[in-house]
Amino acid sequence: MTVADPENLLTIRDLVVELPGGTRIIDGVDLDVRRGGTTGLIGESGSGKSMLGTAVMGLLPESMTARGTLSFEQLSLLDLPEPRWRALRGGAMAMIFQDPLTALNPSQRIGKQVGEIPRRRGVRGARWRERVLDLLDRAGIPRAAERANAYPHQLSGGLRQRAVIAMALSGEPRLIIADEPTTALDVTVQTRILDLLGTLQRESDLAMLFISHDLRVVSHIADDLVVLYAGRVAEAGPARAVLNRPLHPYTRGLAASIPSVHAASEVAAPLPGTAASPANRPSGCAFHPRCPLARERCRIEVPESREIVPGRRSACHFAEELLDVR
Ligand code: SF4
Repeated sequence: MTVADPENLLTIRDLVVELPGGTRIIDGVDLDVRRGGTTGLIGESGSGKSMLGTAVMGLLPESMTARGTLSFEQLSLLDLPEPRWRALRGGAMAMIFQDPLTALNPSQRIGKQVGEIPRRRGVRGARWRERVLDLLDRAGIPRAAERANAYPHQLSGGLRQRAVIAMALSGEPRLIIADEPTTALDVTVQTRILDLLGTLQRESDLAMLFISHDLRVVSHIADDLVVLYAGRVAEAGPARAVLNRPLHPYTRGLAASIPSVHAASEVAAPLPGTAASPANRPSGCAFHPRCPLARERCRIEVPESREIVPGRRSACHFAEELLDVR
């Protein structure tokens, strides 16, 4: 893979994020987000996926160190000074968090918050008001003029998340990092928000890094998938191919635990055991204590991420054995 591929808006190569003392929360991750495309980053709670999103936004706690390659439109981000980060975060890159209440100021009206970036850019008066209502409208908020005057607690969870999406759109981003953006919502609202994100993406040629623990949700929206386990990439490739024929036992386990993703003829089964923490990673392949295919080699040797078929990578010593498994 070429580091400076102009097709990629975001390029991550061999990214390591360490705690003081050297514990690797993220250990050698490669990931791309193509222009106008969506990369789904999937993993169980504690896999390091939110930490990766935080690193991409330059919001890691000061005690952590990051190294490797992290570039946005070929601009290297890891050594970027904070003022340039701030300009990027309010402009070309935006983040949508799981809980809209943490992203919204409870004491400010929605319109004021959605209009903050346009105001900082000098938009005033009637043009400012028009811009705010347009953003709320694009985020699918009905009766935008009325909702612009509301406080966050006066809106439903779904409308609050739409307001956060409107805020994210206000800087006219080219990349959105969406960290579990639908997890706090009920299933019907989840589907509507995913449809909205898909529509906005097509209309505005937005690229998205969509972080989730829920393979069902990610399968709704992602073009490419990166599966993270204990801070390392287990598998990566085009979403449909990965979901149809996983080439890592962990992905197979995730898919098998979801009836809508799993083959209809088989019974859905939860993944056995608990997720390994990056802070307490088992030796060799971190998945070996839970893996039905584990052998002695797996306990000793860390599997390298290898291209198994064109465009598809797996970090399993025995990935080839899964090529013919349905
Ligand atoms: Fe399972 Fe071994 Fe493959 Fe790890 S390397 S996923 S333990 S078979």
